[in-house]
Amino acid sequence: MIIAAQAPATIRAISPYVPGKPITELAREMGVAVESIVKLASNENPLGMSPKARAAVEKAVSGIARYPDQFELIALLSERLGVAPNQIVLGNGSNDVLDLAARVFLAPGRSSVFSQHAFAVYPLATMSAGGECVVAPARHYGHDLAAMRAAIRPDTRVVWIANPNNPTGNFLPPAEVKAFLQAVPTDVAVVLDEAYNEYLPPAERADSVAWVREFSNLIVTRTFSKIYGLAGLRVGYAVASAEVADLLNRVRQPFNVNNLAIAAARAALDDHLFIAESFELNRRGMEQIVAGLKRLGLEHIPSHGNFVTFAVADGAAVNQKLLKQGVIVRPIGGYGLPNHLRVTIGLETENARFLEALERSL
Ligand SMILES: *Cc1c(COP(=O)(O)O)cnc(C)c1O
Repeated sequence: MIIAAQAPATIRAISPYVPGKPITELAREMGVAVESIVKLASNENPLGMSPKARAAVEKAVSGIARYPDQFELIALLSERLGVAPNQIVLGNGSNDVLDLAARVFLAPGRSSVFSQHAFAVYPLATMSAGGECVVAPARHYGHDLAAMRAAIRPDTRVVWIANPNNPTGNFLPPAEVKAFLQAVPTDVAVVLDEAYNEYLPPAERADSVAWVREFSNLIVTRTFSKIYGLAGLRVGYAVASAEVADLLNRVRQPFNVNNLAIAAARAALDDHLFIAESFELNRRGMEQIVAGLKRLGLEHIPSHGNFVTFAVADGAAVNQKLLKQGVIVRPIGGYGLPNHLRVTIGLETENARFLEALERSL
């Protein structure tokens, strides 16, 4: 008996997550300096981390011999979000809380529903828990909530919604999401993944955290990886009813978020200047890249995040030509979009370099 064959079929069927190509890897392959490479592949904040978070990390280094204490970060989030501390669950990135939701509600014989072209972690989390994936067809590349509602089976226990979605950037108006919550059976958990929430203009944001009071099956997830610029530290969180949060905490590793990440997240939440600068840089960069794509005659999917997905004749070929010029974007063939590429909004100079390299790649 080969040991690998003993893994459950759902585990063997998992396609591994393909991350954005690291700068250091391309630098090694091309034999060039890391400084000459532009990486716009992983929706990272081009401004780096908040200066307040950096100072907090430096200060927290002296406490590394101690196990982390989540109390202060949970208290701060509880105050900011207007929910009780026992409704907040911290994750090693929000990816971690997505995984916790799958482990709590999914198992062999159960299924989860998500949209075609939705975030790649939903099938990973579902299959890791032994569950089955039910994929609802997309509409104009975005989530079709009616199709998702129709896809729910008697064995479905989780529905995943990314709003805005990655990699397509589509955004569902809050009223539609709320109507969906009202229509979903109450024995199905709805995970509303809002990793890009802070990139929405405040007037467009849903008051999704307040909905948790009304819908005890709702789990809202957010992250410090995107606008807060802490992707490498891994911090995210879920807001849910106290009952659901309690279950998520039972399967959570006790010390899943490290001391430096906790310190950085606390400081980053209060660095309003950095958040405002990041928001504004993204708004201007989105205009710059969208204008450039139009100039090149390329179609794009209107995006509400810090990235934009555009169509080319051959995604893999254009990607290779960009790499040869030291520009890393994200091919998204794995999302069923082989002739689209996703580019993260960078600094003005990075966006310009991307557009020049793209023009030479077509
Ligand atoms: C980036 C992203 C996340 C979160 O990533 P973490 O770094 O694990 O917090 C979650 N959902 C979507 C849709 C994302 O794009």
